[in-house]
Parts: sequence; structure tokens; C-alpha cells
Amino acid sequence: MQATAVKEWMDQVIKPEQVEKYLDKGNDFINEDYIFTTLMANQKPDKQRLREIIAKSLALERLEPEETAALLNCTDEEMWEEMYAAGGQIKEKVYGRRIVTFAPLYVSNLCVNSCVYCGFRHDNKKAIRKQLTLEELREEIKSLVQKGHKRLIMVYGEHPDSDVNYIAETLKVAYDTKVNHGEIRRSNVNAAPMSVEDLQVLKEVGIGTFQVFQETYHHETYRRLHPRGIKADYRWRLYSLHRSMEAGVDDVGIGALFGLYDWKFEVMGLLLHTIDLEKKFGGVGPHTISFPRMEPAVNTPFTQKSSHLVDDNTFKKLVTVIRLSVPYTGMILTAREPAYIREKVLPVGITQIDAGSNIGIGTYSSDTLDYERQQFILGDNRSLDEAVCDLAKMSRIASFCTAGYRCGRTGNYFMDIAKKGKVHTLCMPNAILTFKEYLLDYASEETRQIGNQLIEQEIAALPGELIRQTVLDLLARIEAGERDLYL
Ligand code: SAM
Ligand code: SF4
Repeated sequence: MQATAVKEWMDQVIKPEQVEKYLDKGNDFINEDYIFTTLMANQKPDKQRLREIIAKSLALERLEPEETAALLNCTDEEMWEEMYAAGGQIKEKVYGRRIVTFAPLYVSNLCVNSCVYCGFRHDNKKAIRKQLTLEELREEIKSLVQKGHKRLIMVYGEHPDSDVNYIAETLKVAYDTKVNHGEIRRSNVNAAPMSVEDLQVLKEVGIGTFQVFQETYHHETYRRLHPRGIKADYRWRLYSLHRSMEAGVDDVGIGALFGLYDWKFEVMGLLLHTIDLEKKFGGVGPHTISFPRMEPAVNTPFTQKSSHLVDDNTFKKLVTVIRLSVPYTGMILTAREPAYIREKVLPVGITQIDAGSNIGIGTYSSDTLDYERQQFILGDNRSLDEAVCDLAKMSRIASFCTAGYRCGRTGNYFMDIAKKGKVHTLCMPNAILTFKEYLLDYASEETRQIGNQLIEQEIAALPGELIRQTVLDLLARIEAGERDLYL
């Protein structure tokens, strides 16, 4: 495409009126003075105060910013241990011992933006550019389905060639491609902010969660790290998920890229984002929160020289504070982290992971690693089967369930059952059913053995005879060859 045509396209993406309507007297909801003073005013919290806050989280109530600030400022390692334990308890209470499992699928890395930390940035001459044709995409999907995946997050750079129409076409291909028993049943999207009208197009084709990470909530840092392109507009991005809710795509995922600015500030930003969504959309906040840590990328020196890189212990702490602050929200830990970190952090409250991930473009079907086609370098290269097996060894069921979404349990409905701690009475049976499908159709012998034992334990732990019998009946039907059964 000609440079002038690209420029023309860029000029019409942002719709200022779709931002201004959400501002409060011209201000956005990230009040930096408020964040700094709240962090300052809640230093050195004593044990009693911390325990009161933890008790509130355990009662599944969202924390207020002063409470989150107190947790962030804890310097007592004994109290951190209590917080880790509470995080795990909350997760089990709301979600049960299941971990939703998905694969990332990079579809296009053409990008008009210049995010200083990203290997796909426009001015990175070392990045090999690639946009999948629909036929190439079909091959990628087939390859993922053949490994046992049912859920995807499809990822795109921002470019006129991969605009909303292309994204809609690729979602259709994802849903239409079947291999034997297998198919993709839910596809989430991580793409650039869009207008309400564009989001409505994606709703039509069955988008799952729409994810947009703010990267950093700190205005000045944001400005410095996004020097050019559409992404330079902080507020267009900050309100992207408000527009998504407005368009009826009511499962939204927020996130911050840790390593760009102070980690305590970013956690406060995620909380204020949650609060503003809840305030404006009848109590419905984000469906998921992501907390990627910045990873090295080809020809991207900033990733290693930022002064805000987060070490492993701090990472575990920040994940824990997010868990305690928003007890009913899904939390995603990606394969950016190596397996040993994922094992350490998972128990403090993670609900979703990606597995068997390959983030090159077109590299699932070619089964290759290609750093020049990657946005960054992955930490966990285990296969799906290895990751599922390791989860089972930790007594966690990998759930491929997509029933909640397909039965309309999204947005308000989902939040209502999540806040009452009832997700697992529906989701645990569905996790067992989809896990059984995986074990029968795709698992190695070792995973099948450990997995079947785990299923027996989980059936015994189901709440009540009626539900137990229902699950046993459905399992018998799956063993007999039926698929896609759910409550
Ligand atoms: N281009 C779209 C955008 O920026 O919103 C779509 C997603 S981008 C491909 C996915 C996410 O990857 C970004 O939002 C950012 O948080 C994360 N990311 C970018 N560079 C990264 C790096 N070096 N290490 C880890 N994550 C990174
Ligand atoms: Fe493009 Fe997204 Fe990478 Fe920024 S983070 S350069 S917008 S792909």
C-alpha cells in the first residue's frame, strides 16, 4: 500500500467524540496525583490492617485504592506469605482447581506504530513482515486443533491491511476450520483500539474477549514510549474497552506491560481502570487482567535497559496484589514467563494460561522457531501436552471449556455469578468434560493416566450427588464418542 494511502487511513481511525464522552470534566480516570498520594499515605501498613484487607478480599469484595496501596507497600515477608495463601484460596473459591488453557495465534505483524519495546514496531528494520493469507491461516488453525486447542487469542499489529474487515474474516476462518472431532470454539482478540462501529462488526462474527493492554498508565512514560503512530494517543487506548462494552462486546481484557514504569503505579492504574469500567457499565469490570513482563525482542535494546524491569519476587507480589484487589476477575499468566516462574506464580491466583505457544507468524504449521518474525522471545516452550501434564501433576485441570461464552454467560451475567463465587459449580463440571475430550483425543499416555486420576478426584469433590451423576452420565457419552457436551 502507498505511504499516502496508509497515512489517510491512519488519519481517520481515531474518533475524538468516542473518547470525550467518557471524560470527567476533561480529565481521564488516571489521576496521577491521587495515585502518588494514595501510595504515600498508605506506607508501612501494620499486620492488623493488612489482615483486615485480606479478609475483605476473601469475602470476594473488590478493594478500594487505599487498600490496594497498603498491600503494595507491605514490607513484611510473613504477611506476603499470608497474601499468597489468600490469593490461592480466593482463586479456588471463585474458579475451582481448573486453569483455562489457550494458544496465542499471531496473524499479522504489519504495524504503523513505533512502540519502543516491541519487535514489530514500524521502524524495526530487522523484523520480517508477514500477514497470513486466509489459506495460510487455515493451516495454522488446523495445526492448533490437531494438538487439542479449543481456545485462541488472535493477535494483530495495527495496519490498514489488517483492519477490522480482515480481522473479521480471520475470525470466521478460525471458527469454520474443523479437523475430525476438533474445532476452535472461542477466539479472543488482542488488537489495536477500535471505534464502536468496528467493534460491532467483530461482535457479529463472534469475537470472544477483546483485549487491549494500556502498556503503561503513566501519561508521560506512555508519551515517550509511543512516539509516533495511532498508538501515540493515550486516551484513544485508555477508553478502548469502554467502547467495546458500548458496542456489546462485553467481555474485555485489560493489562499493563510491566517493566515500562513503576510496578506499584501500574497496579493502581489497573485497579482504577477496573473501577471506572464498573462505574460506567453497571458493575461489570474487566473479564480478565493480564500482566505481561517485558521480554527481549530482536533489535529492541529498550527491553533490556529500562530502569523499571521487574524481578521474579516482585512479579509474584504484584500478581498477588492484583488477585486480592479484584477477587472475581480472571487473571492470565502467559508463556512469556518460563515454566519455573509459572509454577511459582500460578498458585497465587492465576485462572488462565497459554500453552504450546509459538508466536512466530505461520510457525505452528511449519513447526519452527523464528525470532525475526516474533514480537518478543518466549520463556516457556513446552508443548501443550507437557504443560497439561505438568498442570495435572499440580492437581489442576486444564480446561478447554467455552460453554460460558456460548451460553451467554458474559458481561453482567458472568460478573454476577463470579462475584457470588459460583463460577466453579458450572465451570468445574465443564472443565472436567473438556479435559476428558482432550485426554481421549490428543493426550500422551502419561498425561492420560495422570489426567484420569485427577478427573476421579474432581468428580468426588463436586458439590452434591445430582451434579456428580450428571457429570458421570456426560462422561460416559463422551467415552462413547459424543463431543462438545456441557452444562
Ligand atoms: N498491536 C496491538 C497493540 O499493540 O495493542 C496488539 C497487540 S501486541 C501484538 C500484544 C501485546 O504484547 C502488547 O499490548 C504489549 O503489551 C505486549 N508486548 C509488546 N512488546 C512486548 C515485549 N517486548 N515483551 C513482552 N510483551 C510485549
Ligand atoms: Fe505495533 Fe502492537 Fe507492537 Fe506497538 S505493541 S509496535 S502497536 S504490534
